[in-house]
Amino acid sequence: MSKLTDKVALVTGGSRGIGAAIAKRLAADGATVAITYAKDASAASAVVKTIELDGGKAIAIQADAADVEAVKRAVETTVATFGRLDVLVNNAGTAIPKPFEEATLEEMNRVIDINIRGVYVATQAALKHMKSGGRIISIGSAVGERVAAPGLVPYAGTKGAVKMFTQALAREIGSRGITVNNVQPGPIDTDLNPASGDWAVPQKAATALDRYGRVDEIAAMVAFVAGPESSYITGANLTVDGGMNA
Ligand code: NDP
Repeated sequence: MSKLTDKVALVTGGSRGIGAAIAKRLAADGATVAITYAKDASAASAVVKTIELDGGKAIAIQADAADVEAVKRAVETTVATFGRLDVLVNNAGTAIPKPFEEATLEEMNRVIDINIRGVYVATQAALKHMKSGGRIISIGSAVGERVAAPGLVPYAGTKGAVKMFTQALAREIGSRGITVNNVQPGPIDTDLNPASGDWAVPQKAATALDRYGRVDEIAAMVAFVAGPESSYITGANLTVDGGMNA
């Protein structure tokens, strides 16, 4: 029996990048998986198809993380379709890199709404259904703890908020047997943060391993935290950054 057999996971922003890798890895470990996406329906259905071809079960739900009602509906659709919810992965996130003084209110609101308000709303909705053994896992960022480069002020603020959200909620719901953890990636090669180009050079140089990370290296940590062997880990900020914050 696989580690996540009979478990149901919901991964927000699961159609590309880190979220898609997490969805596929949780499915490979035996979970039934729902993913949300904002815009790219074909990328989302490609993830579902890959999981199904490997013998797993998955659905894709359109739900912008900034849309409170859509996020709540995504949780309800997951439970209505698969009958339960054991693992929530708050992965949907965005950055709008630019000097802080040039950031518009609209841009700051967008980053806040997706990266932290979306996490609050999805987690509240998920907790209505979660039982003992449940897992809340958020994808924060290494810049939620230390920021080596300019241009990420509102983003880093939201990721620091994800960190404290994790610690505070872990305290509040530990008695229910539900763990709450924060996986903090360093530079990972995705559409959001490609390993090529000017922006990548200082990020790669800041890591101890002198390289970008791969999406499967984040998915491996999430799979561990989602699984039974992480039962005594809660309120933790688990940095997977090639030593960037060392
Ligand atoms: P990508 O931009 O490569 O992928 C983002 C995924 O999220 C896509 O599936 C996208 O779907 C979905 N998405 C984007 N906006 C929304 C939204 N408003 N509502 C729902 N889904 C949405 O990002 P990454 O994979 O790089 O990032 C994933 C998470 O990891 C984010 O929280 C990010 O902050 C964090 N992270 C990433 C790092 C990196 O170096 N890549 C480093 C540290 C943290 P669609 O195409 O439909 O919009």
